[in-house]
Amino acid sequence: MDKIKRIILMSVPMSICNFRCSYCYLTHRKEYYQNKQPQYRYSPEHVAKALSKERLGGIAYINICADGETLLTRDIDKYTYALLKEGHYIEFVTNLTITPVLKRMLSWDKELLKHLSFKCSFHYLQLKQKNLLNIFAENVHRIWDAGSSANIEITPSDDLIPYIDEVKAFSMKQFGALPHLTIARNDKTKNIEFLTNLSIEDYHKIWSQFDSSFWYFKKSIFGCQRKEFCYAGDWALQVDLSNGNAGECYRKRHPFNIFKNIDKPISFKAIGRCLEPHCYNGHALLSLGCIPHLTDVRYGDIRNRVRADGGEWLQPEVKSFFNSTLVESNEEYSESKKKIILAEDCLYDAVVGSAKRIYHLVKK
Ligand code: SF4
Repeated sequence: MDKIKRIILMSVPMSICNFRCSYCYLTHRKEYYQNKQPQYRYSPEHVAKALSKERLGGIAYINICADGETLLTRDIDKYTYALLKEGHYIEFVTNLTITPVLKRMLSWDKELLKHLSFKCSFHYLQLKQKNLLNIFAENVHRIWDAGSSANIEITPSDDLIPYIDEVKAFSMKQFGALPHLTIARNDKTKNIEFLTNLSIEDYHKIWSQFDSSFWYFKKSIFGCQRKEFCYAGDWALQVDLSNGNAGECYRKRHPFNIFKNIDKPISFKAIGRCLEPHCYNGHALLSLGCIPHLTDVRYGDIRNRVRADGGEWLQPEVKSFFNSTLVESNEEYSESKKKIILAEDCLYDAVVGSAKRIYHLVKK
């Protein structure tokens, strides 16, 4: 069975969406709704070579997510295909309403489709308003029938509360199980907090009725600043698909370009100390093991659901791969190496912090 060697968080700078969800964190970014397609600097073939198994040292979990609806991104199917052909596992984030592109993807070779998993964002109120609920459900089944994986995730937003009963009934009928829940977050707040007007007690009481292991894990780490040594930067990278700009995680200490000079090896180096207020996407980053031995929760288990008919949302290959952890294929650093990295970065942060303060003073 394949084991995960690295995580690639592949962002796609594209700002077109057919939905307008009240809780969308993308609305907090300046790129939102600019109606722009990415300007790719490199072909799909070049990107696949830059992220070859040889260069990454093994098989990667690649999460592809645009700043708008991913399936509306020009040529996204071509890049996804090239990366699947390279042997990686792709998790594709989508609202699942752009059927022609989806159908094109599902016509690929069965062996490739086994490595493809769709994170189906179940935007119930927009789907209902636009009369697209049946299209969404049909597309979920289209994915399963083609031999790929589909998991359904809903955002527990305050405006959805009056519709909970119908969401549950629809999900049981169409997906054989209740959707998993994510956490709506407020990226405008300094600490990236919960996006809800409810007290945390009420929030828990209302949404725990979905019994989502994904949400339980996400909630258990949400808001906790990570102090442990994190291997993002070595075992995980964040990459911009349009140009190859890359770095350790969402916030970068040592940015570099991964698509230029692809004959040279990648210089992987762990971030050590996290730069984020908390690991808000730790449902994948932490369950897959960016911080080793932190949790026994496994990504495949919390993404999956067993349907009422006994079938599962994730295909066996994807489930097994998602249940592997980075520490199984990577060597941990010695304590002295960790200390050196932490000391270097402490110095680096102090120098950069001072330079920024001086710059702002001079600018005033
Ligand atoms: S703790 Fe999470 S957010 Fe922070 S660097 Fe590691 S993986 Fe990234």
